[in-house]
Amino acid sequence: MASLPLPRPVLTRAGRSALTMQHMTVPHAPVPQVPDLADAPRPTRAFGVYIGRFEPPHQAHLLVMLEALRSVQTLIVVIGSARAARNTKNPFTAQERQDMIRAMLEEAGADIGSADTGSAETGRLRFVQVRDHLYDESRWLAEVRGGVQAHVGGSRDVALVGHIKDESSYYLRSFPDWEFLPTHVVSPLSATDVRRAYFAGRLGDVRGMVPPAVHIFLERFRQTPEYAELRADSEALSEARAAWEAAPQPPTFLSADALVSCAGHVLLVRRADRPGRGLLALPGDLLGPKETLLGRAARVVRQLTGLGTALDLSAALRAEATFDHPDRSQRGRVVSHAFHFVLDRETPPELAPGRGESGGGELGEGELGEARWLALSEVLAHPELLFEDHHEIIGRFLSGVTDQS
Ligand code: NAD
Repeated sequence: MASLPLPRPVLTRAGRSALTMQHMTVPHAPVPQVPDLADAPRPTRAFGVYIGRFEPPHQAHLLVMLEALRSVQTLIVVIGSARAARNTKNPFTAQERQDMIRAMLEEAGADIGSADTGSAETGRLRFVQVRDHLYDESRWLAEVRGGVQAHVGGSRDVALVGHIKDESSYYLRSFPDWEFLPTHVVSPLSATDVRRAYFAGRLGDVRGMVPPAVHIFLERFRQTPEYAELRADSEALSEARAAWEAAPQPPTFLSADALVSCAGHVLLVRRADRPGRGLLALPGDLLGPKETLLGRAARVVRQLTGLGTALDLSAALRAEATFDHPDRSQRGRVVSHAFHFVLDRETPPELAPGRGESGGGELGEGELGEARWLALSEVLAHPELLFEDHHEIIGRFLSGVTDQS
C-alpha cells in the first residue's frame, strides 16, 4: 500500500499516509439570490438533463433545478460519481443525493408530484445514476446517454441544463445534439465549500449554503460512524497538506502497484491507514529513491505472498500501464504505474503467515486480514469497496470482464 513520505516532525500517524498539495481557504460563500422567475417562460422543452455530483446539493443547485422546471416538462437529473466508496470529496451515495434532491425540491414547492405520484417512470423529476470512468470517457458518455434515453424514448426534444463554471465543466460540450440551456443562476457557492465547513464541524456555516431539507440530512448523517471516519480522513488530509505547504512546488508522487490474478481471484489488501481506512486496494507502494517501478511492485507482491524469489514474477508479468487522472487521489498528485501479474496455478498460493488469509472469500464478510485473495467476479461487482481508482485499474487490465460491474 502506498504510504506517502511526509516530513515527520509535523505529522501524526494518521497524517503520515495522507497528503494533498492544494490548500485553499475559501471564505464563506454568499448564498445566491433567488432570481425572479415570475416572468420566466413556460415549459418549452419536453426534457431537460442536469448533470452533477451534488456532493451535497446546495442552494445554487436547487435554484438551477427550479429554473429548469420552468422551461422543461420533465427534468432528468444525472447523478455522477455513483457507486464509489465514500470519501471526503464524494461523501454520499447516489441514492442519498437523489433523496436529498427530491426532498429539497418538494420543500421548495416545485411542481414535481410527490414521491408516490411523481414516480421514477412518470413524474416530472427523474434520476439517472452514473459511475465515473476516469480512463474511458466514451463509456461515461454512453452511460449518460443510455440512462437519459431510457427516460426520453425516441424524443429528440432534449435540452442540457447547466453552468460552465470552469474547465471541470468541459463535459457540457460533449452532447452537441442536446441544445445547451445555460442557467441564469450563477453564484460563487460551491459544494467544496459546503464539505469543507461540514467536515470542520461548522454546521452553522453549512446551514446558510444548503436548503433546509439537505441540512436535516447532513445533521443526521453527522451522527453516523461514516461521518466520523470521513471527518478523521479530512483531518488527516489537512495535516498532510499543511506539511507540504512550505514545499517550493506541489509534489508529484509515483506509486508502483500490482494486480496479481490467479485462478479467477485477485490479491487485494485492506487499507489500515487514512484516508480510506478499511477499503480494499491493490498492493503497492511509493517508489523509493533506489528502486525501479517493477522492482518495487514485485517486492510488495513477494512480501504478501511469502513466496519470495520462488515466485517468478518476470514470467508472470502480462501488462503494465500508467494511471494518471489528476483527480484519482485525494492525497495529492499521485501517479500509479501498475503491473498485471498472472500466476499460472490451479489455486492461489497461500499468503505469508501474518500477512493475511488465503483461500477465496466473499466480499462484505468484514475480514480484516491485511491481504487476501478475492473472487474477481465479486470485486468487479463491488466498486464501492475499492480505494480511489483501483476498481478501474482492475477493469482496465481485465477488460474482458469489466462489463459485469
Ligand atoms: P457539480 O455538482 O459541481 O455541478 C453540477 C452543475 O451545477 C454544473 O452544471 C455546475 O456548473 C452547476 N453549478 C455548480 N455550482 C453552481 C453555482 N454556484 N451556480 C450555478 N451553477 C452551479 O457537479 P460536476 O462536478 O460538474 O459534476 C459532473 C459529474 O460528472 C461528476 O460526477 C463527474 O465525476 C462526472 N463526470 C465523469 C466523467 C468520467 O467519468 N469520464 C467525465 C465528466 C464528468
